[in-house]
Amino acid sequence: QVAYLSKNGEDKNVWMIFTKVYRGSLLKYKFTNLIANLLNVSSVPLMLNVIVDNSSRGIAEKIIVEQIRTSNRNMTYSFYNIDYCAKIVNDIVEVMSHFFSKPGSYYSDVLFYISLGLHRIAPKSQKHAILMDCDVFFKRDISLLFDEFQRFKDTALFGLAPELSPVYRHVLKLYRSKHNNTTFGNYYHWNATSDPNIPHSRGFQGYNSGILLLKLDAIRSSEEFKFLLKKSAVQTLTERYNFKQGHLGDQDFYTLIGNEYPHLIQTLNCGFNKQLCTWWKENGYSNIFDNYARCDHKIVVLHGNCNSKIPKS
Ligand code: UDP
Ligand code: MN
Repeated sequence: QVAYLSKNGEDKNVWMIFTKVYRGSLLKYKFTNLIANLLNVSSVPLMLNVIVDNSSRGIAEKIIVEQIRTSNRNMTYSFYNIDYCAKIVNDIVEVMSHFFSKPGSYYSDVLFYISLGLHRIAPKSQKHAILMDCDVFFKRDISLLFDEFQRFKDTALFGLAPELSPVYRHVLKLYRSKHNNTTFGNYYHWNATSDPNIPHSRGFQGYNSGILLLKLDAIRSSEEFKFLLKKSAVQTLTERYNFKQGHLGDQDFYTLIGNEYPHLIQTLNCGFNKQLCTWWKENGYSNIFDNYARCDHKIVVLHGNCNSKIPKS
């Protein structure tokens, strides 16, 4: 009866945000590619959950229906209105944007922090979810990503792969100058044998939230996470790391949590979110960029962040 439950009873919920879309916009093109890609690459039926605004809903539905028709595969889908979501996560967005955003950009802020309240938005029946950017491409079966939930340590609420640029080395410059021995902001040297769950021993590059695994039931019942979302807790964290110039939304928060409370986050290997943006290579970090971007793991997901072109072969 519930067709999108896998053999182990785990629900295959995929979440995307698809808002502020206009005719001919890049995002529409990315979304179309991703839906086609997911239908093609998934060995399991997916439950797609799309957060939309009034004008993007129709566009999204048309794309999904068309891609289902031409692929001869199926997926279940439902839509959530961004204004409805914004109300549900309002308190979280207010706290986070105070510390991590420039003032006066509230509407975009909702998009950037929605993942931190997704456990309130998602139906209670959803125990797991994967929230993904629209600019990703699966080279291999998405069930490989769902399988990662089984590897979560008991205490983990979220799963993220590392940020593959020196952005946090940059943002943490002041903190690093005062703490010479810190590994926070160092590169990790990812290779095929490295174990991502010996946390941050050699270096911690921070996390990228383009692919985010959420253990929704555990998040809902976590008193610790509830505490960490409070203004006082975020203030303590950002002051401890002199973290003032963040600008990457939720992933700034996951990065700080990852350093301070590593038990809450499962580090996925870099092959689950291989970012392609090279902006930092051309902007001051040409000498060390490659150490951050290096990834010798099997590539499951490519992430065309900062509008990078994704090679399809
Ligand atoms: N997004 C959106 N509308 C926008 C911009 C972004 O819905 O106008 C969503 C979309 O899901 C997108 C995600 O926010 O994939 C993050 O943006 P993007 O992937 O462009 O950021 P990057 O990965 O380059 O930092
Ligand atoms: Mn992206």
